[in-house]
Amino acid sequence: HSLTEPPKINRLSDSVVNRIAAGEVIQRPVSAVKELIENSLDAASTSINLLLKDGGLKLIQISDDGHGIRYEDLPILCERHTTSKLSSFEDLMSIKSMGFRGEALASMTYVSHVTVTTITKGQLHGYRVSYRDGAMEHEPRACAAVKGTQIMVENLFYNMTARKKTLQNSADDYSKIVDLHGATRADVHTVVTSSRLDAIRSVYGVSVARNLIKLEASDNGPSSSVFEMHGFMSNANYAAKKITMVLFINDRLVEWSALKRAIEIVYATTLPKASKPFVYISIVLPPENIDVNVHPTKRETGRQSSSSQINTSKEVILSPKTPGSRSQKVPVHK
Ligand code: ADP
Ligand code: MG
Repeated sequence: HSLTEPPKINRLSDSVVNRIAAGEVIQRPVSAVKELIENSLDAASTSINLLLKDGGLKLIQISDDGHGIRYEDLPILCERHTTSKLSSFEDLMSIKSMGFRGEALASMTYVSHVTVTTITKGQLHGYRVSYRDGAMEHEPRACAAVKGTQIMVENLFYNMTARKKTLQNSADDYSKIVDLHGATRADVHTVVTSSRLDAIRSVYGVSVARNLIKLEASDNGPSSSVFEMHGFMSNANYAAKKITMVLFINDRLVEWSALKRAIEIVYATTLPKASKPFVYISIVLPPENIDVNVHPTKRETGRQSSSSQINTSKEVILSPKTPGSRSQKVPVHK
């Protein structure tokens, strides 16, 4: 072996670092939509309007009636790691908001052109300002505004040619966004609905809602920890080509492939071969049992461990004190 010269180590420029990080948080248009909706929910909105052009690549526009953004916060709004939801690491143990990393808006400005219009309570007019690469492009301009915040994300991935091409060629992103929000048209309008079943009906349609069995389970274990589960699963009259599993853990929409597979296996024994179930599950656990900080997209949660180890597993891991009895209740409980 002949020794070769080691390559020189360079420091990446901030703009390269930020664009790489941004590409991780905002992987596709649907990731931006998810982050924007979560921000609107965190802002205590009761109505959220979403408009997409070209599957979100040309335009994603969201309007909410939430609390708005303070004028004095606009300069740092789209900087990385600026958030109104977290101030100490310990806050993560009890976090109730969807967001906390202060990365979503910043990320969007590194891979698209972001314009924010917002008005706060008691103000006579709102402000509009555009952002690029984490910073304001100009001073906020006074403008007419209705209650809440409107955010426009234009020309997503304009500076990431390869990704843009891949997305343009695949027709599935629009369907991913529809997956997330369920309407069968490009303009999605969500309103406060009275019950879970009503919400499922308006998002997934009557044919789903008509064929659901209610699920409920709860457990006040030996310790003080409380487990609660509400859900709906489809009966034998419902048949779809693909399983739909909508899983919320403490009101956070997450993926849990192990549970999905387990449910599929249970259904496989009763449903005809090519038909798959619809399952909606909402699980409530003490927040300190869940690590929401597993992945930048927050698509997965993990077990809060008392050691400082970070859970990098791709699966959701919950930490019921008696794992067997509780986790198995999920697929079989009627
Ligand atoms: P995070 O949600 O993790 O705090 P974001 O980058 O998504 O980070 O948003 C940064 C901050 O901008 C939020 O903490 C919130 O204060 C504010 N914000 C974003 N979207 C809205 C909105 N629709 N209404 C009110 N405030 C918002
Ligand atoms: Mg957010």
